[in-house]
Amino acid sequence: MCEFCNHSIHHTPIARRHVLKFAAAAAAGLVVAPQAEAAPPKAPPKAPPKPENVLSPDDALKRLMEGNARYVAGVSRRHDFTHERESLSTGQNPFAAVLSCADSRIAPEYCFDVARGDVFVCRVAGNFANDDIVASLEYAVAVLNTPLIMVLGHDACGAVDATIKSVKDNTTLPGHLPALVEALRPAVEAAKSEPGDMLANAIRRNVALNVGKLANAVPILKAAADDKKIRVVGGVYELKTGKVQLLA
Ligand SMILES: [Zn+2]
Repeated sequence: MCEFCNHSIHHTPIARRHVLKFAAAAAAGLVVAPQAEAAPPKAPPKAPPKPENVLSPDDALKRLMEGNARYVAGVSRRHDFTHERESLSTGQNPFAAVLSCADSRIAPEYCFDVARGDVFVCRVAGNFANDDIVASLEYAVAVLNTPLIMVLGHDACGAVDATIKSVKDNTTLPGHLPALVEALRPAVEAAKSEPGDMLANAIRRNVALNVGKLANAVPILKAAADDKKIRVVGGVYELKTGKVQLLA
């Protein structure tokens, strides 16, 4: 009988689950075990729930873009959750991670024609990488073995447009919006000297800056990128066509 919850249950399985979680995190290099302790016995590697998602970074990008081509052509596949449910109840191994704008018109799962368990999506207005986003992507790479990260901007982005206006007019937006402006300001400042459309330039700059930031995020993402275990790429989604243009 448990004195805390008053149920006749054994707590051993829960304790074991915590140990296994710790072991998994330690194996992923996220936890440093105390040196005095003996190393825990290694559990046999678990088969990924979606073996077709075990891809090289280049093949992951190819699959993502093929999905986008189907989406643009209006021939997206049917993704039936019923047959995926069982394999995904025990884990996940997404083949790509996407940092997208929160804009309701951009839906990464739709625009890449992928199913549940395929894409690890982080979304924030203006698709920029703050510490929380970097940490989430570190989890995707170090624990879930995701081989590809795409920063996905889009044309006519309201967050970038608001930042341009705030910077130009030297005005302070209400509420928590100034935090967003500060995150997007470097892209807007960089785009100031470029010829052509300011908004389009700032959107591309913002994607490129955040690709660079993620690829150089020490210690986890930079090491994985340097070892060619991951690629970090940028794309811009066209609202009219649904097409994702990769940035060079
Ligand atoms: Zn946006």
